[in-house]
Amino acid sequence: MAIDPALKEISSIFTSNGKEIYLVGGAVRDMLQKKKIHDWDLATNALPDEVTIIVKRAGGKVIPTGIKHGTVTVLYKKASCEVTTFRTESDYTDGRRPDKVEYAGKIEEDLSRRDFTMNAIALRLPDCKIIDPFGGAKDIKAKTIRCVGNAAERFNEDGLRPMRAVRFASQLGFKIEKNTLDAIHGALHISIKVSWERVRDEFDKILNSAKPSQGFRLMEKTGLLELFLPELSFCRGIDQKGYHEYDVLDHSLLACDYAAANNFSHEVRLAALFHDIGKPSVRELDASGGGAQAVWTFYRHEEVSADICRKIMNRFRYPNAVIDKTCHLVKEHMFQYTDKWSDAAVRRFIARVGEDYLDDIYRLRRADIFGFSGKNPDYRSLKQLVERVNKVIEAGSAFTVKDLAVTGKDLMTIGIPSGKIMGKILKELMETVLDDPEQNTRDRLLEIAGKIFKERG
Ligand code: ATP
Ligand code: MG
Repeated sequence: MAIDPALKEISSIFTSNGKEIYLVGGAVRDMLQKKKIHDWDLATNALPDEVTIIVKRAGGKVIPTGIKHGTVTVLYKKASCEVTTFRTESDYTDGRRPDKVEYAGKIEEDLSRRDFTMNAIALRLPDCKIIDPFGGAKDIKAKTIRCVGNAAERFNEDGLRPMRAVRFASQLGFKIEKNTLDAIHGALHISIKVSWERVRDEFDKILNSAKPSQGFRLMEKTGLLELFLPELSFCRGIDQKGYHEYDVLDHSLLACDYAAANNFSHEVRLAALFHDIGKPSVRELDASGGGAQAVWTFYRHEEVSADICRKIMNRFRYPNAVIDKTCHLVKEHMFQYTDKWSDAAVRRFIARVGEDYLDDIYRLRRADIFGFSGKNPDYRSLKQLVERVNKVIEAGSAFTVKDLAVTGKDLMTIGIPSGKIMGKILKELMETVLDDPEQNTRDRLLEIAGKIFKERG
């Protein structure tokens, strides 16, 4: 097995001091799958203080990044890695973290506290001997996720592990072994105690995998979806006959897979997953067509979807900027372009969406359209809209108050006070200019503003 020379050098700092050092965790798993390794996690029998001394003596640096758990970051020449002293964990009472973390003498003890067999393999450095007490290599070969030891016990110790199983399944395209899968249901009462941030990290990794629907379907099957994202699980069975063949959940998953397959940003993937999440709550039957013609309607679902999306994302403690961007995309995802749209309608569309969001709203729309059928969608009308939008932008039209030929200061010179009325007038000027860009001159706008103020000020 080819080991990076920098890693060999770091390992020799330990071995020349009589200490053991192993590559562990995801790096070994990736290596056995012949994948590129992104970061190095090392395990050693040296205590953190000893690690600090020997690394410094060799000319490296040590940062106590996770010293509570026995982890330090080692910087040596241009390389960096995390080094953790062998640990055992015991007495889990809250389902979130062990009550006691103790240092262990042997690598096998350290491996036995790890979650899945594929993550409990160590590669001894520098000779690359594999230490694999739980058959992890065989499981990797068979693309199987299996708990180390008794699945129910492992999940009861740390309620995040079920989410990790599902996330790895989605990321790696592995299946979860039956006992491990069956044990998830019985651990849901433990999983709900886990912090939302930890759950979100796993959720994000599902969303970033090549086919997120795999992870979300497993969440649904195991009860994790109902636990963490009940709003999404309510979309199951909400049929949309008359529009397209999938229920709201399958449609959303297809849209999300499309966003992932096309490498769209995290916000677009989130918006693809949540864009229709308000449909179950706004659904109404329209029987005006009579009998078999009755269809479900989902009026203004985009607004309710944006509200629910915000609630979910707040719960998951996403940063506000991510929440705002995602919710804006969800709110604006419904537009039905036809060639009957006037230029003013196109300008209004740009003003509503915002120029900075246009590319993402097109991406979301493509994902949405893909989700109608899951195959060869027709993007013709979207393409026409993009052309129209580009033309209008090239013409240099105004789309925000900032683009107006007057400022608030100008309005003050004709006696309009700053405050609510000023805001209202600027908004009306904006409307005027969206309707007719020719009006966007200083003199003309001052004249209109003066008139409005006189009538209503
Ligand atoms: P990734 O490629 O996502 O980083 P990883 O396997 O390295 O995958 P990490 O979350 O970085 O995952 O964890 C590193 C290792 O620590 C895991 O491989 C596993 O051995 C162990 N581990 C992490 N979280 C847990 C947990 N909740 N319970 C038990 N072992 C865990
Ligand atoms: Mg890792």
